[in-house]
Amino acid sequence: MALGATTPNFISSSPLAARAYDFAKKAHEGQRRATGEPYINHAVETAKTVSAWKLDENAIAAALLHDVAEDTNCTLDDVQKEFGDEIVFLVAGITKLGKIKYRGIEAQIENMRKMVLAMAEDIRVVLIKLADRLHNMETLSVMPNQKQKRIALETAEIYAPLAYRLGMQNLSGHLRDLAMPFLNPKEYGWLLENVKDHYESRVAYLERVKPTIESSLRENGIHQFRIDFRAKRYSSLYNKLLRYNMDIDSIYDLVALRLIVPSVNDCYAALGVIHSLWPPMPGRIKDYIAMPKPNGYRSIHTTVFCFDNKITEFQIRTQQMHEEGEFGIAAHWAYKEHKSSQELIKNAQELTWVKQLRQWQEHFSDSKQFMESLKIDFFRDRIFVVTPRGEVIDLPAGATPIDFAYRIHTEVGNSCVGAKINGKIVPLEFELRSGDVVHILTQKNKKPSESWLRFAKTAAARDHIRGAVRTQKRTLLGMQPRKIVEFKIAAGDRIGLLKDVCAVFAASKINIVKAQTVSTASMPLMKIQCEIKETREIEKMLIKLKRLKEIKEVGYRYV
Ligand code: MN
Repeated sequence: MALGATTPNFISSSPLAARAYDFAKKAHEGQRRATGEPYINHAVETAKTVSAWKLDENAIAAALLHDVAEDTNCTLDDVQKEFGDEIVFLVAGITKLGKIKYRGIEAQIENMRKMVLAMAEDIRVVLIKLADRLHNMETLSVMPNQKQKRIALETAEIYAPLAYRLGMQNLSGHLRDLAMPFLNPKEYGWLLENVKDHYESRVAYLERVKPTIESSLRENGIHQFRIDFRAKRYSSLYNKLLRYNMDIDSIYDLVALRLIVPSVNDCYAALGVIHSLWPPMPGRIKDYIAMPKPNGYRSIHTTVFCFDNKITEFQIRTQQMHEEGEFGIAAHWAYKEHKSSQELIKNAQELTWVKQLRQWQEHFSDSKQFMESLKIDFFRDRIFVVTPRGEVIDLPAGATPIDFAYRIHTEVGNSCVGAKINGKIVPLEFELRSGDVVHILTQKNKKPSESWLRFAKTAAARDHIRGAVRTQKRTLLGMQPRKIVEFKIAAGDRIGLLKDVCAVFAASKINIVKAQTVSTASMPLMKIQCEIKETREIEKMLIKLKRLKEIKEVGYRYV
């Protein structure tokens, strides 16, 4: 199939992308999106974003092919034959992620985000997924109501935070803004009505401020710079308004001025220039260059009393910081020839996996190492599986349905007879993988089997199985569960009495756990605690003990 005249340049300029485009177009032939457009448009939009993030050719091809295995007659095998291992690996990753559905169980959010990363296995898969989600959000209004809510919620709770942690705050904010009309329609409407005029008057005011800064920067030797406006995102503005009694006038960063200068030194020089023009507001200077945010964000923020004493926020950064702020991890494709000069992040509060993510971002030096660093392997020893209700359970790698069952509840483990994984019955020694939906089949009065110890991986499951097996064995032998019984023996004082008493217990093969002699006013009292398996043993012991010389009285009680 020949490429049409309208084929975007990023496709026609790459033979691989062109081939992927042809393949996808053919596979999606006749399919339409809910918007009525040909389906291939969605694949092209996704790939366009991936290309704008400057990802490699394979990622662009995978973006074009990302829905082929899910929605058409083409299989992953077909993709593999045509495009090879790496591209099919990326496409398979995106297909897997498509099966994760978030339905709003608060406590599960963090595990859910981890599961997305663990299942993606490669950072490019996450990025293609984000590009896919972006286009789905842009066209969400044509979807049925129920679906809109679910996808918007998943976007706000899972994908926007992931984008943020990958350093893509612009995308993160954009995704949140796209989700907001579906999640909080009333609030969104209120914002539309009340914010517009404020924005316009702020922008008009900043236009007045601009020339003053421009000439001042030049006077101070900074000739290369760019000044633009940054309007606060609706979703983050709304969260801020909630804290400020919905008073828009008290929000200083509704619109901020953004200065982009060539070097880090210029950033600090520009800060000086601004502060010499207008006094800064105490406590509002934030140096995210010296102390980057945990997600890698770098910039200097300051708030000053500007013309007419109007409180105004400025953000100062270099072009590279700007692009990293916009594209996050993806920006490193563009900058991978440079070594990142970023300082170590010292935020102890930060989650380990974010730290690990940051670390690999910082420690690549050549291209091959860089590609290897795309592998998400910090969850190597953990898996994330899902209950039928959608809760995500975090287990060690190699865990089996038995581990899962005991994690849910001891009783579920004890009465487990089988398991269904993704709807299919599997043996109990089946090794779970991230993303598996696990359903445990139970049966009343079913008892754990010792053989489970061969494949139970977690300590908790193993302990429960051993305990349950021990109890079962006793019952099988007709024994009562072990009980501790205390014998009280009153006797006249006689040398060797304790030794004789102990000998009686030993002869009956009864284990003494504690022996004690208490002196009372009348006569010595011995208290012997021992393990008794059967009640009849107690009677026998009473008789045997009473036979001993000088024994006056013998009694017992359960401890
Ligand atoms: Mn898609």
